[in-house]
Amino acid sequence: MPKEDSFFDISIIGGGAAGFFCAINIKKNNPDLNVVILEKTDKLLSKVKVSGGGRCNVTHNCLKNDLLLQNYPRGIDALKSIFEQFSVADTILWFENEGVTLKTEPDGRMFPNSNSSQTIIDCFLRLCSKFNIKIIQKCNVRSIKSNDSQIQIISDDLVIYSNKVVISTGGYSNPESYQWLKSLGILIENPVPSLFTFNDKNLVYKHLAGVSVQNACIKIHNTDFEYSGPVLFTHWGLSGPAIIKLSAWAAQYLAAQNYVFTIEINFLNSISYEKTKDELLIFQNKNNKKNIIANPLFEIPKRLWEMFCTQSMIAPERSWAECGKKNREQLARLLTKNTFEIKGKTTFKEEFVTCGGVLFDQLNPENLALKSNEKIFFAGEVLHTDGITGGFNFQAAWSTAWVVAKEIAKIINNY
Ligand SMILES: Cc1cc2nc3c(=O)[nH]c(=O)nc-3n(C[C@H](O)[C@H](O)[C@H](O)COP(=O)(O)OP(=O)(O)OC[C@H]3O[C@@H](n4cnc5c(N)ncnc54)[C@H](O)[C@@H]3O)c2cc1C
Repeated sequence: MPKEDSFFDISIIGGGAAGFFCAINIKKNNPDLNVVILEKTDKLLSKVKVSGGGRCNVTHNCLKNDLLLQNYPRGIDALKSIFEQFSVADTILWFENEGVTLKTEPDGRMFPNSNSSQTIIDCFLRLCSKFNIKIIQKCNVRSIKSNDSQIQIISDDLVIYSNKVVISTGGYSNPESYQWLKSLGILIENPVPSLFTFNDKNLVYKHLAGVSVQNACIKIHNTDFEYSGPVLFTHWGLSGPAIIKLSAWAAQYLAAQNYVFTIEINFLNSISYEKTKDELLIFQNKNNKKNIIANPLFEIPKRLWEMFCTQSMIAPERSWAECGKKNREQLARLLTKNTFEIKGKTTFKEEFVTCGGVLFDQLNPENLALKSNEKIFFAGEVLHTDGITGGFNFQAAWSTAWVVAKEIAKIINNY
């Protein structure tokens, strides 16, 4: 039998990025409140610790909300009003005020100056201690019950009572993890993983692991899903920013295909097959004596060009004078319409997010309270929103947690 324990004004379920940020901001707005964080494991902020390769990509230097929103495959309508209340600029200022200066990398990702995720953890733990936020670890919340005045929170060992509860339990691609929320009548979009790399069934290019093309265009056959950017060959298939971002946009479709699908890559991005054929002929006419394999065109990396030439039956000693129409056509096809059969996926540097979770329709869009029970709030990845890589997922965690915190402090102030 769980032990009947204490009362807290606010209980936060989940000791991750959103849970801590919410707890701290509640106390900043209203230091008199009694706040507890309930964490199921014996670790706190474990994803923050490993995030960004141990550096924590805190946010993205994208100061215009309309541009920021373009990095969220799901949840864009809901995030609009959330980001209006707490933006990237607010995030940067918030951390700066707490002594954590962020720096921007050339691609826009922002990290703590220290290059260490521990800086963020230390900052949060210091503030928890300063504001006297109680943290209970190994507290796996199994259910909550609500009556007119209070919420009863039931874990394996404890029963806690609160006026308000924030559910910030993160994302899980296993639907079972949402069962306790479903049993409360909360509507959940079926969870599937997002942000992954593609396993190439045939592995024809396996020996090119490490080779990348800076601006390719990848399309998923028989769909409108396409993405342009860097592509990287790996031992298991294809990776790189364009592949990982495409996996996010197509996460639900790819799950429905059981990760068996075909992609077409144009390694020249927007240059068509026809135009490429023409350009190869023009080049051939002007450079008759040049060796083909030794002189890559279109800034294609040397090893990839050699592979394409070999696949086009162009022998190493051949000059352009010896290149036939069929060779040119095959080369143009491999450059612009190269197909890969994908079977399966692989996690990218252990980073992943969940597509799916608590549906926004049932929440007040301004403060993320459950419309049917305004004592229950949601923040972070438990919500049905997810971003591509680059700091966008933490930004959603900070912003959703902040609006919840502001609302809770306001309501309680009115008691
Ligand atoms: C390896 C990796 C690297 C990443 N790097 C980045 C990055 O650099 N930048 C970025 O923007 N995003 C990154 N992400 C995504 C980002 O970490 C998440 O989007 C973010 O942590 C979500 O925060 P959260 O608080 O909602 O959930 P979480 O951080 O997952 O925290 C949820 C917490 O709730 C606890 N919990 C769950 N159920 C219960 C329960 N029933 N009772 C009590 N506690 C419970 C969990 O144990 C967990 O501690 C990364 C993800 C991974 C996996």
